[in-house]
Amino acid sequence: MTFVITEPCIGTKDTACVDVCPVDCIHPTKDETEKFDKEKMLFIDPAECIDCGACEPACPVEAIFEEDAVPEKWADYTEKNADYYK
Ligand code: SF4
Ligand code: SF4
Repeated sequence: MTFVITEPCIGTKDTACVDVCPVDCIHPTKDETEKFDKEKMLFIDPAECIDCGACEPACPVEAIFEEDAVPEKWADYTEKNADYYK
């Protein structure tokens, strides 16, 4: 299982989730300047996420969901998050 970042992150991208993730599996971070500028949102690495849930309440726009709870309208974001790490 993993957590997934969805559409509301686009245009917000404040990296609050990065600060609370214990395993640093949310990217790109602000330190990855080139990638951070290029991407419209952040993504969670499904292979590294330990399902701790810390990022979910930290997000000011409720963009983060547990994989099973991703709203139907944003279902494609599960793959988008994983694709970033391929
Ligand atoms: S659930 Fe935990 S490990 Fe997974 S992305 Fe969120 S903060 Fe990181
Ligand atoms: S906290 Fe929410 S809006 Fe901010 S970068 Fe993370 S997912 Fe995007």
